[in-house]
Amino acid sequence: MHEAASVRGLLIDLDGVCHIDGMVVPGAPEALRRIAAAGIPCRFITNTTTRSRRALAERLGGMGLPIAEGAVFSAPRAAASYLREHGPQRARLVVADAVREDFDAVAVDEIAPQAVVVGDIGPNWSYQLLDGIFRQVLAGAQLVALHKGRYWQTAQGLSLDIGAFVAGLEYATRREALVIGKPAPAFFLQGIADLGLPAERIAIVGDDIDSDIGGGQACGLTGIQVRTGKWRADLAAASPVRPHRTIDSIAELPSLLGLP
Ligand SMILES: [Mg+2]
Repeated sequence: MHEAASVRGLLIDLDGVCHIDGMVVPGAPEALRRIAAAGIPCRFITNTTTRSRRALAERLGGMGLPIAEGAVFSAPRAAASYLREHGPQRARLVVADAVREDFDAVAVDEIAPQAVVVGDIGPNWSYQLLDGIFRQVLAGAQLVALHKGRYWQTAQGLSLDIGAFVAGLEYATRREALVIGKPAPAFFLQGIADLGLPAERIAIVGDDIDSDIGGGQACGLTGIQVRTGKWRADLAAASPVRPHRTIDSIAELPSLLGLP
């Protein structure tokens, strides 16, 4: 198993694989067209929490990437589904204004929430904000992290991601956050179920050795690491995760899969 030629469906990360901070990865649109022409279905799973799914799809289309809104699985949408279907009903949203529309069906409570949802808010972190979340979690609110990424790739290099703040809140409250995005198995399972294929026929394509490759391989997927985005030789070597395949970029994916 885990032969690239036996892959019949793909879960593909967006930022760092198809584009880097809004700049399309050379060859990505062409690669996605060849994969679609070969009849291999793709779902795009992203921990991006700064844009709504609708805005994400519009932006991808603007970059020339042939990706439909319905094929995008984002952490904010998955969090909203969790809160609506299984979780606490009243939530405080510590998220970017741009993703609030993904939480339309969630009742917002800033004062006495049953859950505090934490996403990327850029430079808006402060002691006061963290202390307020700390107190609400101590009072019984569930800490829900859209993801727990350590760092991400920007045009200026690697930057600190929200995982540092989530880990800090977990340490101080002695409570574990519920992590919604990759590498949480439930997030991968949504994409796998939507593809309707057995896990051993699906590959995950990502730039994050731990969240993408580690999370996907733990779900039985074939892990295909790309050397774009946040990939660094030393960071990949330091990870306990070993991808099944490594390629220079998504442009090489059709050839790896043996597609015309
Ligand atoms: Mg990525």
